[in-house]
Amino acid sequence: MSSDNAKVAWDACLNIIRDNINYQKYTSWFEPIKPVKLSDNTLTIQVPSQFWYEWLEEHYYTMLRSTISEVLGTDGKLEYSIVMEKSEDHNSDRSVRMPQRPVPPSKPQEMQGYPSHSPGMIQNPFVIPGLKKTKIESNLNPNYVFERYIEGDCNRLARSAAMAIAENLGNNSFNPFFVYGGVGLGKTHLIQSIGNKIKQIHGDEKNILYISSESFTNEFVHAIRNNRASEFTMFYRNIDVLIVDDIQFFSGKEKTQEEFFHIFNALHQDGKQIILSSDRAPKDVPDIEERLISRFNWGLSADVQLPDFETRYAILEYKARDNGIEFDPDIFEFIAHNFKSSVRDMEGAVIKLLATSSLQKIDHIDLFMAKQVLKDMVKETKKHISIELIQSQVCNYFGIDANKVREKTRKQEVVEARQIAMYLAKQMTKSSLKTIGLQFGGRDHSTVIHAITSVEDRIKNPKHQRIIKDIQHSIELASI
Ligand code: ADP
Ligand code: MG
Repeated sequence: MSSDNAKVAWDACLNIIRDNINYQKYTSWFEPIKPVKLSDNTLTIQVPSQFWYEWLEEHYYTMLRSTISEVLGTDGKLEYSIVMEKSEDHNSDRSVRMPQRPVPPSKPQEMQGYPSHSPGMIQNPFVIPGLKKTKIESNLNPNYVFERYIEGDCNRLARSAAMAIAENLGNNSFNPFFVYGGVGLGKTHLIQSIGNKIKQIHGDEKNILYISSESFTNEFVHAIRNNRASEFTMFYRNIDVLIVDDIQFFSGKEKTQEEFFHIFNALHQDGKQIILSSDRAPKDVPDIEERLISRFNWGLSADVQLPDFETRYAILEYKARDNGIEFDPDIFEFIAHNFKSSVRDMEGAVIKLLATSSLQKIDHIDLFMAKQVLKDMVKETKKHISIELIQSQVCNYFGIDANKVREKTRKQEVVEARQIAMYLAKQMTKSSLKTIGLQFGGRDHSTVIHAITSVEDRIKNPKHQRIIKDIQHSIELASI
């Protein structure tokens, strides 16, 4: 049986290999290889992935070549069969066959080093044209570039460090680069800008990978479940620029942290760039191993903070121009004033305005409309509702002078407006009955109670209820 012969030949190879590399590498890379057949002095071995094959070729080419020569003689040949379990086409047992090439005679002193080829010489037996370089999909969003990232006091340090890293890859001391800050403040945009810039400078020469820590964790769990942990590790060790987003997600995930720790060390040692982000400073990320935290502090940590008004305005203006949108400056001002906690929320506001105007076929959005459309989104930051505002809105509704509700007059229409205003003051502000009374011309708190109960009585009638709702609505609008 050729497969028995194959096993014998491969076992002989393994004996030699075992003596030449350390045990861990041996078990990781060589034990999983299966001998398939031996015929015409050609040994066919099966490896689990293209990446595996490339790894062997890159790291063990010389050793394998000498080993084959030793076991099969100088005319021995090696053929690879790659069986990909997770093949992208639906044919899961697809195998890629290596072309047969003669194995050149080996010199024992070549065992440890990578041989130098000169053109025209016999080629590396393991090279498959077109498969030479592992291409890694970077996962970068092409829109996240420095050119679209507005600088402000809030992000100046982080942004300039990021630029320096991209422009001086492998030659900067910001390794790892750790960006932290609250949600929606531009961390993802910034760290991806580094990747995109490096791509622009180095093309495909550098393997860049952007990954969220959540995906990293999921992939790792998947790899373990499928007995592919070492392949997972090797994949990551092949990366030149590793960008891991939101590493706070590693909290409490010990196994993932351990794996990441080893990958981190290997990459760092090789001078590969590591870029991380988190929603808080390294020392504040909970349930992360101390040794990882200490490594996060090896390079540079920089925070992104809440942008100030001017930067928010500049970002809005830029985004609008970038998307061919025209807004009145007072709308930018309104949004910049009311969306202070995240750039993402500001973008959400712009999108909502656009969506509404296109749905309702409105050519021009004015400030009043913008306020109305966005009122639900700005609730938390809305202006304080004062008793004065309530008084003026109520009186406005009934067409009476606002001072009247603060005076002693007992005219029926004023009494009604006064009672409604007192009722709404109780509903919409935190003022005490006493304060409310005082603001209505120094009335007693029992007068306020009386007003409230009589309004409560009246709104049992839907017509009155409607009136109250309308007034309430106008107060809310006016308070934005
Ligand atoms: P984070 O990762 O911190 O939660 P993101 O990077 O996802 O935030 O940013 C949210 C949105 O805000 C993105 O669309 C991003 O383009 C935008 N953004 C944030 N900061 C800036 C900035 N300084 N200039 C331009 N756009 C920004
Ligand atoms: Mg993010």
